[in-house]
Amino acid sequence: MDLTRRDFLRAMSAVAAALGVKGLDTFADETPGKLPGAAPVVWLEGQGCSGCSVSLLNSIFFNTTDDLLLNVLDVKFHATVMAAAGTRAIEAAQAAQGQEGYVLVVEGAVPTGDDGRYCYLWPGLTALQGVLDFAQNASTVLAVGSCSAFGGVAAGSPNPTGVQPVSEILNTSLPDKLVINIPGCPSHPDWVVGTIAHLITYGTAPTLDSQLRPRDFFQNKIHRECPNFDDYTAGNFGLDACLLELGCKGRNARGDCATRKWNSPAKAQPGVNWCIGARSGCIGCTEPGFPDGMSPFYESSGPAAAGEGGGAPSKPDAKLDVTVSDAQEESSATGESNDRTDQRLPTRTLTQYEKRRRYLEQRAKARAAQQRAARQRLEAERRMAGPRQLEYE
Ligand code: SF4
Ligand code: SF4
Repeated sequence: MDLTRRDFLRAMSAVAAALGVKGLDTFADETPGKLPGAAPVVWLEGQGCSGCSVSLLNSIFFNTTDDLLLNVLDVKFHATVMAAAGTRAIEAAQAAQGQEGYVLVVEGAVPTGDDGRYCYLWPGLTALQGVLDFAQNASTVLAVGSCSAFGGVAAGSPNPTGVQPVSEILNTSLPDKLVINIPGCPSHPDWVVGTIAHLITYGTAPTLDSQLRPRDFFQNKIHRECPNFDDYTAGNFGLDACLLELGCKGRNARGDCATRKWNSPAKAQPGVNWCIGARSGCIGCTEPGFPDGMSPFYESSGPAAAGEGGGAPSKPDAKLDVTVSDAQEESSATGESNDRTDQRLPTRTLTQYEKRRRYLEQRAKARAAQQRAARQRLEAERRMAGPRQLEYE
């Protein structure tokens, strides 16, 4: 059976409608237009995994996906979800670019190395140039996901593509452009939808913290709302208690994950579970420096505060220094407490940072030596086994 692209799109639209995902229908080539008042959105994806798009499609709490795509947003361009492709899709983006006032969403990181040639939005337009071009006429820029907001996984050492956060990319050429960071790996759909809803409803940005994140969602440390906090203060660590010794970075990360949770089953209902609820420690995915600054994920993330119970691990943690001082800065700026433990945590020093760095270096060297020894053993065994044995390899 011959199936043209147009037939395919029609079939997909019909399937989407049958599934109740009516919004997808509006991305078809023959789209008649959105409801008046819908917020125009151009969604670009740089060096990313599309995880934040997938996460957004799980939106239920504020708006279901179909309501979001049909009534709330007027998505002009979204390479992953839109039905149009090739020249038609590019033309749709360019047409939107000519009109002012759209919300520009950037998902994924923006590589700057080699003039941005590591990532193209479409032939002839790098993600770097695309972000600069599309930001010009945008009313607001949302950096969705930790890659876009802070560099994230794509900026992990040694950052071969020279990734930079969107805010830094725009800082030089468009210093007055409003950039809102909505980090997370992936970002929570409610954080994205809630921020857009605020923009539409009030016409202004929500209050942001020092990392340009909406305070409504990122005000508190994970630790602050964690159901294991009493175990933490009592010094009870382990899989059935506080996960600190198993690497939890909840003291260093901000977000309302503990109360909002993920995978909301119905409108206005919190999600069904979250990282710590699934007995995996928080890996600090909403913070600048993630993932390198939060690694190793599953090793102790530093001592508990003095006087807060026994069983505290002894390794110093460099990352803690940064976040604690950040929290203390914000506390003094806002006159309010950020974290139940911040005030009790001792300020750590550069010496401890150095100790931590040396510890990680030594461990990496030890592992490399073990691997070398294992390889040498294997080679020696192969030599002893002779050519007959090698035939079977
Ligand atoms: S360290 Fe992690 S598991 Fe323990 S109380 Fe804090 S956030 Fe919860
Ligand atoms: S609990 Fe931590 S790792 Fe999990 S989503 Fe929230 S900030 Fe990210």
